[in-house]
Amino acid sequence: MNLSRSEELFERSQKLMPGGVNSPVRSFGGVGGTPPFLARGNGSHVWDVDGNEYVDFLGSWGPLILGHANPVVVEAVQKAAADGTSFGAPTEKELLLAELITGALPSIEMMRLVSSGTEATMSAIRMARAFVGRSKIIKFNGNYHGHADGLLVKAGSGMATHGVPTSAGVPESYAAETLVAEYNDLDSVKELFAANVNQIAAIIIEPVAGNMGIVPPNPGFLQALRKLTRDEGALLIFDEVISGFRVGLHGAQGLYGVTPDLTCLGKIIGGGLPVGAYGGREEIMRMAAPLGPAYQAGTLSGNPLAVSAGIACLTELGKPGVYERLNELGALAEQGVRAAADATGTQVTVNRVGSAFTTFFAEAPITTWSEAADADTERYANYFHGLLERGVYTAPSQFEAGFVSLAHTDDDLAFAADQVRAAFESLPN
Ligand SMILES: *Cc1c(COP(=O)(O)O)cnc(C)c1O
Repeated sequence: MNLSRSEELFERSQKLMPGGVNSPVRSFGGVGGTPPFLARGNGSHVWDVDGNEYVDFLGSWGPLILGHANPVVVEAVQKAAADGTSFGAPTEKELLLAELITGALPSIEMMRLVSSGTEATMSAIRMARAFVGRSKIIKFNGNYHGHADGLLVKAGSGMATHGVPTSAGVPESYAAETLVAEYNDLDSVKELFAANVNQIAAIIIEPVAGNMGIVPPNPGFLQALRKLTRDEGALLIFDEVISGFRVGLHGAQGLYGVTPDLTCLGKIIGGGLPVGAYGGREEIMRMAAPLGPAYQAGTLSGNPLAVSAGIACLTELGKPGVYERLNELGALAEQGVRAAADATGTQVTVNRVGSAFTTFFAEAPITTWSEAADADTERYANYFHGLLERGVYTAPSQFEAGFVSLAHTDDDLAFAADQVRAAFESLPN
């Protein structure tokens, strides 16, 4: 595979940007080698600057559920741009996106648009602390909620790939407000409540974990957290930045039938442009300025381009049969990997929820961070490069999700399955 132009660009980028990238996992630190610099995407395919073509299972880390350059989204963005790219004043489009979101997620009675998932979780936690009047929060080992200071504690994928438990630059006094429980382990949560009586404002959780690879909640786990938080006077925050509009039109909360107090969104709701949102019970959201004493703002919040892309994307997703098709494609992807593993005697575990899946080089079951962390990352790196050089683009880390989009075809998945089998065959023993 010729990557000469990417190599040249990567060398120049490394002089100007840490690791040559604007977000760490893009640097291929976990798998080695030069990241292809991408030039173009269309549907389920992307092309790099050297002209190599790939079937894409990264989907920009989740947002591109309609595939690249979806014509409806592109047209919406072009039209919006022609009408002005930002006003810093209210627009009708923001209201339309809010109506689409709250229509699909009835637990969100009131909401705010922001510009990233990081801002969404940071702001939701601020509202939770303001409402409950306590300062500590519980998060789960291996869950990622963006890079706000207090959330960079045992935060899965990016940090795990680079071996950082808690980020440098986060004051210990601040990290001490974040308590860490084990995913799918209710006792670990109960212990934290018992040791911190009346101090915990909220639990924040990825209701389907996506940042330690895909790890679904054990049956009853989310329901138990719902009951526990109510008993303890704390709030339950679902970080659905990945799972929102991915695992179903009504998110993980709809799929598992658990109603959180607050929800964080991002990725898909921006249709590939920078957006986030947080919202929930009205009495909590009334804490936000200008109604309440908790400040939160944004110059580009509700940006017309991003909001237009979001409206187009959510409108497409609301059409009948969309999630059935996504689930069907996800099942095909999973079957392809399983069949290749059986045929080649390769030990892997596939976790999947709908159109999101992870192939772990580890034994089943994988329900906790420590089980995920047991995966053979060196073998994954080998597999990753085996796929890349065969024209299949996946996440450059064991602890990430693969995403199938509506633009993927049965042929794409058959092609990918063949390459998975070839990549398995070429793994060292
Ligand atoms: C991606 C992600 C975030 C952060 O969103 P950004 O837009 O990257 O800031 C937060 N939570 C979860 C679950 C995510 O997957």
